[in-house]
Amino acid sequence: MTSPIPQYLTALLETVREEESGQVADYIPELASADPNPLGVAMCMVSGRVYAAGDCDVPFTLQSVSKPFVYALALQDRGIDAVMSTVGMEPSGEAFNELSLDEESNRPMNPMINAGAIAVNQLINGEESSVEDRVEVIRGLMSRLAGRELGFNESLCYSELDHADRNLSIAHMLRSYGVIRDAAHDAVLSYTRQCAIETTARDLAAMVATLGNGGVQPLTGERVLDPDVCRLTMAVMSSAGMYDGAGRWMARVGIPAKSGVSGGLIGTLPGQLGLATFSPRLDAEGNSVRGTMIFEKLSEQMGLHLMNPVPVGVHAVRSIKEQGEDTVIVLQGMINFSAAESILHEIFARDFSASRLVLDVTRVVRVDNTGRRLLAASLLRMRRAGYDIAIRDPERRLRDLVLSDGTRAPRVEG
Ligand code: GLN
Repeated sequence: MTSPIPQYLTALLETVREEESGQVADYIPELASADPNPLGVAMCMVSGRVYAAGDCDVPFTLQSVSKPFVYALALQDRGIDAVMSTVGMEPSGEAFNELSLDEESNRPMNPMINAGAIAVNQLINGEESSVEDRVEVIRGLMSRLAGRELGFNESLCYSELDHADRNLSIAHMLRSYGVIRDAAHDAVLSYTRQCAIETTARDLAAMVATLGNGGVQPLTGERVLDPDVCRLTMAVMSSAGMYDGAGRWMARVGIPAKSGVSGGLIGTLPGQLGLATFSPRLDAEGNSVRGTMIFEKLSEQMGLHLMNPVPVGVHAVRSIKEQGEDTVIVLQGMINFSAAESILHEIFARDFSASRLVLDVTRVVRVDNTGRRLLAASLLRMRRAGYDIAIRDPERRLRDLVLSDGTRAPRVEG
């Protein structure tokens, strides 16, 4: 038997294939002559399962799709404060290549427009780094995110550099305000090489799923980025990833995303999946026309909108039952704040006749830090109310749970 998901994705591509509006980017000669027809989609679950259809293995250059990843790398290496003093995190509402800075701080508005991305590129590998070393660090990160060695499209890179007047002006502007120190030419060379790294939609789905998975690459299991770096990067993608279409995008599609002029589009739902499409014709804002349609349809048909209310934790207490001398409180699912709140509500709303209360977490899949703290606090209160307490935790989901008075709850088997 085969899963229906690949078939769904294949059929989805057919619903947009005939759409021929939009233009391939024409300001880079090598992109202007690109085949406008490829159409591919890939989905990578945080579990590492990948579903893909169409031209999902056709290579293309990252272009602006590189921006969130290099931003994440800068946050990881330099820390949030250093990055924040170089680039803001407000949507600019402007075109990607606008020559603009925040009027008060003279910093680029955000890292998803070229001004911000050129500045962020300069944060990688230290200020003294050569262009070559800096670019190699970036290529290394992209490769770990993709789970395979990536390379550059050299001819595209030099074709873009021959027509880089706009980005050179941006770099000169950044230098004149002291945002970057490198020569404008070197800054643009470094940034353009970052944009010229080649991937496929299949690679990109795993790369962006890594952000959604809190920094652990779903296929290799390698921790590439810290969870708070991923959270910040996705937050900035959600407000600024689609340039001046960002507000409409979040309302209609609701998937933090980033587009690039070669026709790539990536998006992720935290804790769920990464998505990538490839289709080179772009709309007036520079976003892939058919890629946008695919994202809209996936969001609507598969309920993949960030703002869809997903009840978490309402059924965290599976049962409360008498077992011999004990009352056993059986928990299930993921225990976060909302789940812990509903557990606390169930426990403290009643009086138990048994002398011992057993918290059974055998069916719990994960406990976050808040869940652990609140479970520990509940156990202590139960003990202080006069009950004996114990935990049944064969998989050690609670790890070594220490209550705030320094004691532990005894463990019971079975
Ligand atoms: N390399 C391209 C540029 O700087 C990337 C722009 C984009 O993909 N939006 O113009």
